[in-house]
Amino acid sequence: LTGGAVRLQSKRDDERNLVQEARAAGYEVLFDRNALANTKGGKLLGLFAHSGMMDGFRTTRTQKDPARTEPTLAEMTTTALKTLSRDTDGFFLMVEGGQIDWAGHNNDAGQLLHEMIKFDDAVRVVMEWARDRDDTLVIVTADHETGGFGFSYSGFAIPAPRPLPGDAFKDRPYAPNYNYGPLSVLGMLYNQKKTLYEIIQEHGKGDDRSPEALVKLIRDNTGFTISTEGARAVLASEPNPNRIEGHPYLHVETMRRACPGGR
Ligand SMILES: [Zn+2]
Repeated sequence: LTGGAVRLQSKRDDERNLVQEARAAGYEVLFDRNALANTKGGKLLGLFAHSGMMDGFRTTRTQKDPARTEPTLAEMTTTALKTLSRDTDGFFLMVEGGQIDWAGHNNDAGQLLHEMIKFDDAVRVVMEWARDRDDTLVIVTADHETGGFGFSYSGFAIPAPRPLPGDAFKDRPYAPNYNYGPLSVLGMLYNQKKTLYEIIQEHGKGDDRSPEALVKLIRDNTGFTISTEGARAVLASEPNPNRIEGHPYLHVETMRRACPGGR
């Protein structure tokens, strides 16, 4: 059905096939990047992954790879604009950079950076489309803020105000409220190869599950190093205080030890 691009597996209790039903209702169902690029528009249903789509690392890495079958957020946005803008009544389009939140939940700064790049690409497509129009409102916002996470400090070593060119700073100097730190840190984050979630999964499945093995995985896959002591703290577990027998996930007997405050 999908030409091998997407693994389809129904979780339904009945025999309904919603893909066939969509087709019967006049939708063109698309499963890969080529089909999306070649569509003539109309009613479209794009299903490009069994579950979550490519993370930001893979999106960045495969940006120019002709073998990539999943479209990027920017590519989906391009087709959506092309298709919807034919409607003479106008249109509403919602585009979500959904995995920014996932990276926030995992406190994964490298992934957060690559997810923001992925999202920024989609915003660029929209801004280019809207640039010469006077009938389009573009709103870029966040739905919720996850984990109190940021690339900046708000109460520490705030840089001194300085003059900047341009109208906005004609009468007052640019006075940042945050310290964003050296740009080289962003470079180190950019060089991360996979998500921290994948790294910790890989460690858990490996033959060597020692703290030293985690130190090596972090060193091989990110621009950062952690100490053996740090790895031991990450791997430490404690009895699950919220355990519920038979619960789909609260049944686990142990969980990672909560990070002691201030460390
Ligand atoms: Zn969330």
